[in-house]
Amino acid sequence: MSDKAIVDPQAVLDGVPTGLWIDGESVPSSSGATFAVYDPATEEALVSVADATVDDARLAVDKATAAAPDWSATAPRERGEILRRAFDLLTERADDLALIMTLELGRALPDSLAETKYGTEFLRWFAEEAVRIGGRFNRAPAGSGRILVTHDPVGPCLAITPWNFPLAMGTRKIGPALAAGNVMVVKPAHETPLTMLALAETFAEAGLPPGVLSVLPTSNAGEVSSAIITDDRIRKISFTGSTPVGRDLLAQAAPRVQRTSMELGGNAPFIVFDDADVDAAVDGAFAAKMRNGGQACTAANRFLVQSGVAEEFTAKLVEKMSAVRLGPGYRDGVTLGPLVSAKQRDKVAEAVEGAVADGARVRLGGKVPEGTGFFYPATVLDQVDPYAPVTRGEIFGPVAVISSFESESDAIKAANSTEFGLAAYFYSRDLERCMRVSDALDSGMVGVNRGVISDPAAPFGGVKQSGIGREGGSEGIEEYLTVKYIALT
Ligand code: NAP
Repeated sequence: MSDKAIVDPQAVLDGVPTGLWIDGESVPSSSGATFAVYDPATEEALVSVADATVDDARLAVDKATAAAPDWSATAPRERGEILRRAFDLLTERADDLALIMTLELGRALPDSLAETKYGTEFLRWFAEEAVRIGGRFNRAPAGSGRILVTHDPVGPCLAITPWNFPLAMGTRKIGPALAAGNVMVVKPAHETPLTMLALAETFAEAGLPPGVLSVLPTSNAGEVSSAIITDDRIRKISFTGSTPVGRDLLAQAAPRVQRTSMELGGNAPFIVFDDADVDAAVDGAFAAKMRNGGQACTAANRFLVQSGVAEEFTAKLVEKMSAVRLGPGYRDGVTLGPLVSAKQRDKVAEAVEGAVADGARVRLGGKVPEGTGFFYPATVLDQVDPYAPVTRGEIFGPVAVISSFESESDAIKAANSTEFGLAAYFYSRDLERCMRVSDALDSGMVGVNRGVISDPAAPFGGVKQSGIGREGGSEGIEEYLTVKYIALT
């Protein structure tokens, strides 16, 4: 492990607000309670943040709904300019923001810098979309009148975000919600509230009026979220996280028929055909697997490699993954930080142990290192049955699981044999095959000869139990608009 620190973590943390963000300021919890945010590399508390209660949630909704009429009436250009100013400020502070993310999430600094770029871009993108909210006008075909269609703000929103991309999972909801003229209350993950609090403060500096954006860190996600969802004034729930929690939130939204966007779990196949450029496939595989230490919903979860190139691909991937440097994410030269928590690290270790018990061969890694921190090494397993239990769930760690296949139809059948359908990747140099396989894969996003597909200008989302709705692209703002038909004479 590398031991040269490139930052003084405390100096960065001192600038982050640690209260709840309500009505444009950082305030203590009504109970006075706080909870600790931990450094996954040292297992030590970094800082304590205010712990929101149900009363705080109600206050945030009161302030949000009070701010809603003025915000929805604010000129789209002005809303866009506030988003753009927030983008500029965050871009200036990219290094600090990346450090905050690495401190609370653990992952390597280059991954945090990449998220800073990706996450802030949603604000620039939706700043530009704010002034392009359209509608339509036409004569009724029967000549009986005129049809005017407007797109209005959906109403006060709740966003619940996960820890694995603490900035981007917020900005891709906050950006379109605010651009469309909505107010939003955000409940960030308890592991990573600091990034969202820093974001809220930056928005205030960018000129966002009090009440439009609130942030409620809490150790009591269920009760605090339910208090907000069961408030009739909340009209939209946007969630990114696991499929089981998504199902529960959908059920909670049903009695009030609230609009929902659900960005849920994935189980991405990564297929390498015999006709692929194997070196390019290895680079793509590495990116698709190791981005964020494997803690991504789009992470390649199952590698399916055609038998003719299976050994070449595996050997080259092992070589590439052997070069990873494991250590605290904020240390110089580290490319793989710890996982976010002991729970995640143990889940990854159990998945590997289960796969090995089922006959997988360990080509690299596969053992929890001794010592402090939630570290797990880069690991490659091959000779895995494509339907083995390890291929059923999200690994969410730096573990590549490789199976081989004979025919294209075998690969597609295995790739689609999951209740998830978020991302899928494949490598081939045959254009006809590229089109055929893209059509056949049951997923919301397909990477063709690419290992990273996320783009703020593209619609991100899944099919089947990976979710409902899209984030980013011109589709992303539609999730925060409602259609009104006005019949005119
Ligand atoms: P999670 O356990 O579902 O948590 C996500 C968020 O939901 C957190 O803020 C969490 O709060 C909150 N939460 C948990 N239980 C809740 C409840 N009963 N009521 C209301 N809120 C609740 O997921 P995670 O482990 O943090 O994140 C990993 C999952 O997210 C993976 O499945 C991954 O694939 C998915 N993900 C999907 C996308 C996508 O775009 N499709 C993107 C990123 C991640 P606490 O932190 O307090 O538990």
